[in-house]
Amino acid sequence: MEETVNDMNRELMLDANAVAGVFQEIFGVEMTAAPTECAHCGNEAEIGTLLAFTQGPGIVLRCSTCEQVMLRITQTPNAIYLDARGAVYLRLAR
Ligand SMILES: [Zn+2]
Repeated sequence: MEETVNDMNRELMLDANAVAGVFQEIFGVEMTAAPTECAHCGNEAEIGTLLAFTQGPGIVLRCSTCEQVMLRITQTPNAIYLDARGAVYLRLAR
């Protein structure tokens, strides 16, 4: 699996701000400045600084330090699926 990480195609990468609209739809608030923590390496960062991949059927956000997957978002006509297994937490300001 190490090779998969190293072969990650950074040309397909966008800044996570590109997916700000999707977060706005899910949480109803602006999330790019929201802090989160990588479950793999413990790096704490704002969601807007994560590495975003949007070429697949969903959106994948990777840790900018260890490049492990932190968040996956898949949209269907009826629902949005959020997989946050790679994040210790997401902090939503009230
Ligand atoms: Zn990490």
